[in-house]
Amino acid sequence: MKPRGILLAGNWKMNHGPASARGFFEGLPFSKKPGATMRVYPSFLTLQAALDAVKANGQEIEIGAQNFHAEKSGAFTGEVSGPMLEEIGIQQVLLGHSERRQYFAETPAVILKKTLSALHQGFEVLLCIGETLEERNSGQTISVLTHQLESTLADPTCAEAFGKTLHLAYEPVWAIGTGVTASPAQAQETHASLRALLTRTLGQSTADAVQILYGGSVTPANFAELLACPDIDGGLVGGASLKPDSFGALWNLI
Ligand code: PEP
Repeated sequence: MKPRGILLAGNWKMNHGPASARGFFEGLPFSKKPGATMRVYPSFLTLQAALDAVKANGQEIEIGAQNFHAEKSGAFTGEVSGPMLEEIGIQQVLLGHSERRQYFAETPAVILKKTLSALHQGFEVLLCIGETLEERNSGQTISVLTHQLESTLADPTCAEAFGKTLHLAYEPVWAIGTGVTASPAQAQETHASLRALLTRTLGQSTADAVQILYGGSVTPANFAELLACPDIDGGLVGGASLKPDSFGALWNLI
């Protein structure tokens, strides 16, 4: 068993409305595994249907939100707040996904604000970071990741939450949705550097407790090798989380 447990998380992005989510969970072969957690992040609209479906099917699967607004209420047309999520029983949020950074102009400052708001409201946060291909090719991977994490690591609330209610997903942007996965060696090297950064800034015991998931074109064909790496604590999965067969196959590799 992995020391930090394993998290298999599916990011559904803008896929699966309520009806197809119900069909997904009905078709998902799921049985509990010691030391492992399955989580799915559906769209806001689908959260309630997903919660109801896993309850009705007796599936111990966590349901989280892909985003939320840092303010608790107010004049923010089109947004969803923490108290709204809490009201329906959501306890996890995904933050900092590269698509939020790229298409919705979420800067490190915005992501820090959301992270702090989520932690103060009692949510568990999975924070995504990752470099582009250009950044990797020019040898900047670690400096980019360090920059993305800098303000979070320097913040006392985040420092206290790391390893408890704040965990990381390393998602190289060039591997997301492209079919190009980081090799297990590339992923492990980066995860080990991230854990070394956590150790230097927050100390060994906190660094040892932080789950670092790998994300980027994870499939049943490559997951086992990635999971065998000592610093990879699970997967954040887009495309292969959308079908019960492939997501179930990933779960069966744990
Ligand atoms: C993602 O968007 O978080 C992701 C990892 O997508 P995919 O698995 O499709 O690359």
